[in-house]
Amino acid sequence: MNDVVLTLNAGSSSLKFALHAVDAPLVPVLRGKVTRLKRAPAFSVSVPKEANLPLPTLALDCTHEEATVILLDWLTEHAAQHAIRAVGHRVVHGGTIFDGPTRVDADKLAQMAELTPLAPLHQPHNLAAVRLIAQRSPDLPQVACFDTSFHATQPEVNRLFALPYDMSQQGLLRYGFHGLSYEFIASTLPEHLGTEADGRVVVAHLGNGASLCALKDQKSVATTMGFTALDGLVMGRRSGRIDPGVILYLVQQRGMSVPEIDALLYQQSGLLGVSGISNAMQDLEASDDPRAKLAIDLFCYRAACEIAGLIPAIGGLDALIFTAGIGENSAATRQAICDQLSWLGVEVDRFANENGAVVISTPEASCKVLVVPTNEDAVIAQSTIRIADLT
Ligand code: ADP
Repeated sequence: MNDVVLTLNAGSSSLKFALHAVDAPLVPVLRGKVTRLKRAPAFSVSVPKEANLPLPTLALDCTHEEATVILLDWLTEHAAQHAIRAVGHRVVHGGTIFDGPTRVDADKLAQMAELTPLAPLHQPHNLAAVRLIAQRSPDLPQVACFDTSFHATQPEVNRLFALPYDMSQQGLLRYGFHGLSYEFIASTLPEHLGTEADGRVVVAHLGNGASLCALKDQKSVATTMGFTALDGLVMGRRSGRIDPGVILYLVQQRGMSVPEIDALLYQQSGLLGVSGISNAMQDLEASDDPRAKLAIDLFCYRAACEIAGLIPAIGGLDALIFTAGIGENSAATRQAICDQLSWLGVEVDRFANENGAVVISTPEASCKVLVVPTNEDAVIAQSTIRIADLT
């Protein structure tokens, strides 16, 4: 038997899981996911490749909780060579309480539950998995790793909305998300940038959800997602930054309801809304429809604007790092964003960009541009091993 930690990452309609060896947590020994929960779910395993493990079938209306039970039973049966020593959970919101990973007990669970109104689509699923495992295996250590914690280092002025200050004191703040991804990228900076690792860096996490983080001394100084994961960049289905007056207009003049506006901003906007074709960058790049091009152009323009908008927080730009599905895979998107930032010293080497290089800037450019794959699971696994004291 080899000692492993189980990492669980419950999204709004998915459950991702992985097993990482305690003595080698960077690369998973098993990884998989359940997608399309509550609407014909699918269970798949991506590591090890060619595993040919028998996979469970899930009921069409299978919930997160049911999927977690099925997963735990499946692991007991088909991953019996791995002894699970602790479970690490991605928990979306840590509010102003949790500024780092923490071992979960009843009091902390109650504190996390109080933050549910701040992340209603994710927090309940994250916590349901914690409760379920606590019932099944009360002695198994569980660690919560928060998407917000990495941004706890932002100065107050960068966290504030210009709303009455007592509202900020009640928690109406720019928290920021994708913190586990940024923590991973920050940890790789010394390897990639050497002595410049502590410099002025912007990380562009461009996936279905997309955000930016400005780093100085490898710490978060400012970020584009705010009170919710709706702010900032154009995303697959989310609008990103929008004039708040649009929402007032939709309510007052068009009579739209709150659920309708919720669906509009979270599900029907972004790349999908502008193109009318797809929320996936890959589909839009393959299309010759002018609206697909318009959606890509808006995505890239807004990303360049938001990168520029972070510069006052760090006083310049020494390095720009692309990560996540689009950032890691779409050379055209990287090129288009960088072309709009040439005045910041950003210049891409076309050949390097199109051929999978890590450093894609020209040698003369004053700003280094890199492509670095993110690894949120590894951050959860490492934190869980540390906090549960498994080494
Ligand atoms: P999330 O984890 O937020 O769901 P990902 O990080 O997996 O999202 O990123 C998904 C996005 O990456 C989609 O827009 C997808 O089309 C895009 N993507 C993945 N591979 C490629 C590729 N080879 N070229 C262009 N876009 C890609």
